[in-house]
Amino acid sequence: MELLEEYIRRNGAVKEGNVLKVDSFLNHQMDVQLFAEMGKEWKRLFADAPINKILTIEASGIGIACVVAQEFQVPVVFAKKSQSINIDGEVYSSKVQSFTHKRVYDVIVSRKFLTPEDHVLVIDDFLANGCAVNGLIDIIEASGATLEGVGIAIEKGFQEGGKLLRKRGVRLESLAIVDAMDAAKGSLTFRQ
Ligand code: 5GP
Repeated sequence: MELLEEYIRRNGAVKEGNVLKVDSFLNHQMDVQLFAEMGKEWKRLFADAPINKILTIEASGIGIACVVAQEFQVPVVFAKKSQSINIDGEVYSSKVQSFTHKRVYDVIVSRKFLTPEDHVLVIDDFLANGCAVNGLIDIIEASGATLEGVGIAIEKGFQEGGKLLRKRGVRLESLAIVDAMDAAKGSLTFRQ
């Protein structure tokens, strides 16, 4: 998506450790007009899918997912990072290795909000090694809901997550794919 790539080129910063900083528009300060355009693009890409729920993970996926949910006119559920607390004693849970914080945590979703009737679109800000998205897919599978697809704002194509999801047959729509980043030069290359 040209507009998102332009934002990344203009406002993103490449940091050591394969981290792309986009906190001026995506995951700290949030440009909601940009999110609205992203929402429209995912609506176009998943127009044929019977999506009735958006699933994301706290915290940085929530803002984007809310705008997408508005576009699809469906509710959004976010998986909570938990210190083994039960919501109503009835939760699905999965373990996720955090790329940015380098630790493992449990994520939980209440059984009330994900059922076999649901057709789910997963939304997140970044795809790196795929741990966050895989944790959400585990939860969807445990609930008996149907995974319709995954929408990612920025996929880092030089990490494994996207490749593995596509290999599993998951319908993955990343709006920008960064194939190379160089912190020393501050440069990045997008997949065409
Ligand atoms: P994964 O679980 O795919 O390894 O990493 C995805 C998660 O880590 C995202 O939810 C995102 O919050 C965070 N993340 C991964 N790579 C980056 C990055 O380059 N920049 C930022 N800001 N967050 C990232």
